[in-house]
Amino acid sequence: MTAHPRCTMFDVILGTPEYLIERAMAIRADHLTYLAARETFGMDAQIAKTAEELSEASAAILRWRWSDRQSVSSRDQMAAELADAEIMLEQMRMIIPGHEIDFHRAEKLTRLKERLNEQAGK
Ligand SMILES: [Mg+2]
Repeated sequence: MTAHPRCTMFDVILGTPEYLIERAMAIRADHLTYLAARETFGMDAQIAKTAEELSEASAAILRWRWSDRQSVSSRDQMAAELADAEIMLEQMRMIIPGHEIDFHRAEKLTRLKERLNEQAGK
């Protein structure tokens, strides 16, 4: 990626202020859609849909892997299923408060970094 001459290092890492505003507005629009989905279909249906989409994503990942990562259609199907899974996982943050997920996420990332450091030390 080539940085715009007026971009700071933070713009390159985080995105320009314009990009961040655009992204924040998109996240808010997504959130409103998720609220409407929960209102329309109900929380239990959204929980079940999350499990379904994660299973589909899992199967798509394996199909792509079994194609030795050569199949463009398998890759596209995987991307579509990952998008479904991400959308449902984002909705789960409205069911299980996001800070609870973030707590475990931080712990697991710390553990991953420790394992990477252990590997680097071998
Ligand atoms: Mg799907």
